[in-house]
Amino acid sequence: MTKTTPDLSDSLVHLGRGPKTAGRPVNLPITQGSTMLFDTLAEFEAAREARYQPETLYYGRYGNPASFELERAVAALEGAAGCITVSAGLTAVTLALMGAAKAGDHILVADNVYAPTRSFCDTVLARYGVEISYFDPMQDAAPHFRPNTSAVMFEAPGSGTFEVPDISAIAATAKDNGAVSIIDGTWATPVFCQPLKLGADVVVHSGSKYIGGHADSMIGFIVCNAATYGQMRKSALAFGDKAGAQDVFLSLRGLRTLEMRMKAAEAAGLEIARFLQDQPQISQILHPAFPDCPGHRNWKREFSGAAGLFSVVTKPCPDEKLHAFVDALDLFGIGVSWGGFESLVLPVAPLRTANPWTDEGRVIRFNIGFENTDSLKADLARALPLLD
Ligand SMILES: *Cc1c(COP(=O)(O)O)cnc(C)c1O
Repeated sequence: MTKTTPDLSDSLVHLGRGPKTAGRPVNLPITQGSTMLFDTLAEFEAAREARYQPETLYYGRYGNPASFELERAVAALEGAAGCITVSAGLTAVTLALMGAAKAGDHILVADNVYAPTRSFCDTVLARYGVEISYFDPMQDAAPHFRPNTSAVMFEAPGSGTFEVPDISAIAATAKDNGAVSIIDGTWATPVFCQPLKLGADVVVHSGSKYIGGHADSMIGFIVCNAATYGQMRKSALAFGDKAGAQDVFLSLRGLRTLEMRMKAAEAAGLEIARFLQDQPQISQILHPAFPDCPGHRNWKREFSGAAGLFSVVTKPCPDEKLHAFVDALDLFGIGVSWGGFESLVLPVAPLRTANPWTDEGRVIRFNIGFENTDSLKADLARALPLLD
């Protein structure tokens, strides 16, 4: 019998479910374990020899059957050669950069990356003799490459401000210059964008956001094309990092509903963003699906949807009013991270060194969750006058 081509919904339901033995549980159990046992010393030695190779059962730190299922599933969703599960999204970023750069190299980092990514580059990579320069990802990256540029790190869209760079153009420029392109794809998840198919070499994800989806898990993924996978896997494993067993389980479970949650988040996010656009206190909506968002055309071409995370720019206002507004919201939690079921609000201060952020209004980021959107609008309508 011929098999039908897997479609995304089918893949999300069926990938990473383990061997099809009779009486199997629907969800692969949490797989704990450190020592793995072998019947002969020769078998053990073969496993030790192959420990950096994918799918090798050797010792718990290198992965176990459940983490390998998750790695295969995420790699399949991204059209990748392979995936490495790590303990958090930031770990995926830092280990990918450590896998791509060495002392004496130069790396290019987008000006609007996740702030802890910038801080890792400035405080750790720089200390190991890697030169870092920040570039405006909305401009042509080509002039910034040097003979020793080994990697380009960027995000689509940018953290906090949501400009959408041209993924295929940056990836192609990196390739022309012999550099590895690393993109943080956390916002879109593989449901809305698959950057490796657009030419990127490595995609990193924080699975703590939408993939886990319930604000109760921390995990990261380094997803690689064939050219980078071997080196990235060996380098990441050499650091001794490892995803937690329960977080592997929760990620696999999260995948089952990822597409429906993304679509619900997209619809609710757009509804609230459109509502905010009409409010007198708001001067701009920073949401890739809005035509005036920088890079909107890139989003339309390279993404199939929008997450429920976006920002607004308010009219300029003092700290007290900003605090009063945020504190008055009942249904929006105040806290970092996003992609869970609950709406969140957080003022962000865009840090830019390549191209200074000049808008004097306040940037406020919203994660739209699964509350009733009418309730969210009523909550916002009640609090917004505090910005006046
Ligand atoms: C949250 C986030 C990360 C870090 O993920 P953690 O799992 O919290 O370590 C990395 N990149 C982006 C874009 C994020 O939003």
